[in-house]
Amino acid sequence: MQPLITGIHHITAIAGNPQANIDFYTGVLGLRLVKKTINFDSPDVYHFYFGDEVGSPGTVFTTFPFTGARKGTKGIGELTYTAFSIPTESLEYWIARLRKFDFRVSDTLTRFGEKLIRFEDHDGMGIELIANNTDDRGGWTYGQIPKEHSIKGFYGATLNLRSKELTAQLLTKHMDYRFIGEENGRFRYGTEGKAGDIVDILVNPNGNRGQQSAGTVHHIAFRTANTTTQLQVQKILMENGYQVTEVKDRNYFMSIYFREPGGVLFEIATDEPGFAIDEEEAHLGELLKLPDWAEPNRKEIEAALAPVALNTEKYV
Ligand code: ZN
Repeated sequence: MQPLITGIHHITAIAGNPQANIDFYTGVLGLRLVKKTINFDSPDVYHFYFGDEVGSPGTVFTTFPFTGARKGTKGIGELTYTAFSIPTESLEYWIARLRKFDFRVSDTLTRFGEKLIRFEDHDGMGIELIANNTDDRGGWTYGQIPKEHSIKGFYGATLNLRSKELTAQLLTKHMDYRFIGEENGRFRYGTEGKAGDIVDILVNPNGNRGQQSAGTVHHIAFRTANTTTQLQVQKILMENGYQVTEVKDRNYFMSIYFREPGGVLFEIATDEPGFAIDEEEAHLGELLKLPDWAEPNRKEIEAALAPVALNTEKYV
């Protein structure tokens, strides 16, 4: 049978200042702002989507930026590090670039035979860049980042959990994941086991719970092809006792949500229809896009949101 779940779709985090958030992900990291919309569950807050040139599933990091939000803390029950994939030859480029913009970059670490660096964005968001030559996605040019160094999309994510058994069972029995290997207490799972589908579980029985606020991840979405496969996943999860929401229309994909046993909010999102549904590909992210139900309130919504701009030219 074809797998119903094929890796990571997007990862959504809570951020602080919206302009600083745009400046970092587009200017410093060179991700494209592919959609500027609102949090559908809280229309007075932006929802930014940063991804490759078209916002392909597996590349999209999204944020809910709250001006003046206090910082959260990383801890148990959270996705603590989002890992992006870069070419092996680009590691030095990224170390130099991040330092140039005053980010404190870790020493080069090695994990499962691949080199990586780790740092925090201005809100404290945990980010890793994993150097590898197995990611066959092409990369793209955006802002000041040349194509050969561009971030190719997600590599994977680290979940920090009190124990791994129930989450591992969920992944491997009901979500088309398989166990890849273990290294230093890090348990790796993947659908195919390559960049874009990796989920690592770090077990920490005595850690403190994380506190969700700016600089922490809100949820991780896994990808499924379409609404038919999504309903199949929903049925499987419900039959196995997970409390899954109804299907929600997120305009650019359809979503269901449930909390995995370790406390992290999981989403299953469809690859269809994508971000070109309400803007041409050449102009993605330029205008504030609203779902139809919010259009009648556009004036009030726009008035409540601080204006933001793209400043990639400043991040040479
Ligand atoms: Zn989501």
